[in-house]
Amino acid sequence: MDCLFCKIIAGEIPSKKVFENDKVYAFEDISPMAKDHYLFVSKTHTKNVNETPTELISDIYFGIKEFTQDKNLESSGFRVVTNVNQHGGQTIFHTHFHVLGGEQLKGFGS
Ligand code: 5GP
Ligand code: ZN
Repeated sequence: MDCLFCKIIAGEIPSKKVFENDKVYAFEDISPMAKDHYLFVSKTHTKNVNETPTELISDIYFGIKEFTQDKNLESSGFRVVTNVNQHGGQTIFHTHFHVLGGEQLKGFGS
């Protein structure tokens, strides 16, 4: 399958890994929208969050929780975003969650 994130997970395209377990891989976004910007992806290919079994979503979120607690992002705060299809701004059609933080984020009322 011609999927950029599958190639990143397979190590065919380099990435800056920040977290990995048997189900989840996470790496720095190439074009960061905040001081800290990571992408958490499932090692199994699915198109977007609506097409992903809830158990897999929970696996991804488990990774996010572990990472943000370990890296001390939790106390200062962070944001999780997942884009779905065109209006959502999804450009890579492999389910992923953006984790943003490291500075005061704007938008959503702030
Ligand atoms: P989406 O727009 O689908 O929600 O998010 C895709 C994200 O993947 C974007 O934030 C974009 O910067 C990031 N991205 C695209 N290509 C690459 C790449 O080759 N390497 C990395 N690390 N991130 C990428
Ligand atoms: Zn994929």
